[in-house]
Amino acid sequence: MCLYLYFCVRYDLQKNIDVFHLKKATCRIWRPQRAKHCRYCDACVRKFDHHCPWVGTCVGERNYRYFAGFVISISLYAAYIGGTCLYWLYHKCNSLANDKNTKWTEQISKSIKQNPCALAISIYAAVVFLCVSSLALYHIHLIIINQTTNENVKNTYTSTVNPYDHGCTNNFKQVFCYPTPPRFVLFHLLVLMFSLVHREIHKHQTTRLILKI
Ligand SMILES: [Zn+2]
Ligand SMILES: [Zn+2]
Repeated sequence: MCLYLYFCVRYDLQKNIDVFHLKKATCRIWRPQRAKHCRYCDACVRKFDHHCPWVGTCVGERNYRYFAGFVISISLYAAYIGGTCLYWLYHKCNSLANDKNTKWTEQISKSIKQNPCALAISIYAAVVFLCVSSLALYHIHLIIINQTTNENVKNTYTSTVNPYDHGCTNNFKQVFCYPTPPRFVLFHLLVLMFSLVHREIHKHQTTRLILKI
């Protein structure tokens, strides 16, 4: 934890962001601006956006671009799938209408009977699109104004100016084009440490077994 805080502080000092605050209610630690404590993960997250129950983790500084990209791409994909299925039904209606010299609207029910899967998939895609596209538009709006969901919901910048808002283009660049900030939790060192300890314990147990034999 001390190592984590050290790197947090050093990183923000390098970026000339020298404002820290003490959160007394949860961690009682000094932490960078925009970092918040997630009660589900029980950890402080840099540029905390929200805890996503669907993804099963926090959305913050290092994974926000992937989350936003995921939501936007799912919306586009659902629109594409739904649109393709509807176009396929329209195409079938047209071909049936040409065969019988009628209007394509008169062949809708027959076309659906012949291709029920196309209708089912288009309805499913429409439901997904309606659910996810609103979220995608909301996050596009948040990226444009450079706010996190947490800040937006809590109306953090209603009385003050948002110091992180550098214009639409720069805000988009910040999310999607800048390199991912470094990780401060050194998982690989922890894994190495635990594997060494485990190996030592295993060696000790093996030695004891050999002595017993
Ligand atoms: Zn915390
Ligand atoms: Zn969380």
